[in-house]
Amino acid sequence: MIETFQIINEDFPWFFAALAAIFGAITGSFLNVCIYRIPEDRSTVFPGSRCACGKPIPFYHNIPVLSWIVLRGRASCCGARFSIRYPAIELLTAVLFLWVWLIYSPVVALIGMLFVAFLICATFIDLDHMIIPDRFSIGGMVLGVVLSFAFPALHGGEGLPLVAHVQSGLESIIGALVGAGLVYWVAVLGEIVFRKPAMGEGDVKFVGFIGAFCGWQGAVFAMFGGALVGSVVLLPYLLLARLFAGASEESDPATESPQDSETEDEAEHFGAQVPFGPMLAVAGLIYFLGFDRFVDAYFVEVAGVFGL
Ligand SMILES: [Zn+2]
Repeated sequence: MIETFQIINEDFPWFFAALAAIFGAITGSFLNVCIYRIPEDRSTVFPGSRCACGKPIPFYHNIPVLSWIVLRGRASCCGARFSIRYPAIELLTAVLFLWVWLIYSPVVALIGMLFVAFLICATFIDLDHMIIPDRFSIGGMVLGVVLSFAFPALHGGEGLPLVAHVQSGLESIIGALVGAGLVYWVAVLGEIVFRKPAMGEGDVKFVGFIGAFCGWQGAVFAMFGGALVGSVVLLPYLLLARLFAGASEESDPATESPQDSETEDEAEHFGAQVPFGPMLAVAGLIYFLGFDRFVDAYFVEVAGVFGL
């Protein structure tokens, strides 16, 4: 079977690439369900997708990205609008799966797809609810360590069989510990300096998860790169949102919850309610999708300066 795979992969390189993208779109469709249902503690498998009006959505109207375009973002049963976020997440997952497939060996690519899927889920749940469920942070961290022991290629490990496995596993554990520890202390110091909590326990566990898959370099980059992404992307967005906040008091139905009274607080304490998870995830992604060689080379150089 592996031989057949190699023959097809060599003769038709686009075949598995296309498959990776389609697999990504289908996975993205499932991630939409996870993002919507997991915070509500509902099953992600049963019942199947339903429209807001309660009617089940037939499979031929549930084809990732395409159905949304064909139906122009409306339900076929009652005409209810579907958020553009659904096809956007499907497309995003498809692109990222394709990317991962193109830059990694097949085994690492499959692990990478899992990593990407966890990042996407955690990001959008954090955006909606300001929490990162433990099953993504702690669960993902444990998964990262186990997969690192099983597949040393994830950390570029080669060499003696057993040694490579142990080395890779240790790299993952160190990555998780360094990542979580770093964010913990940045959060503690940040709270002293800015006199308000900047990052939560969820972020501590989340960077632990990123470190388990990317090693300590990836975790450190997720933390500081995340802060950079945050200031470059998020600050202008928040400023604009604040400028237009008076004009339209719109609120996403997905975020309507008993915590709604906090939105007034949010306006008062500018920046106090910013979810940090999405920025950490974006930086973690940047590292995993090819920036790792620059970051790792940088750390080697820094170590050289200190004679390490
Ligand atoms: Zn409907």
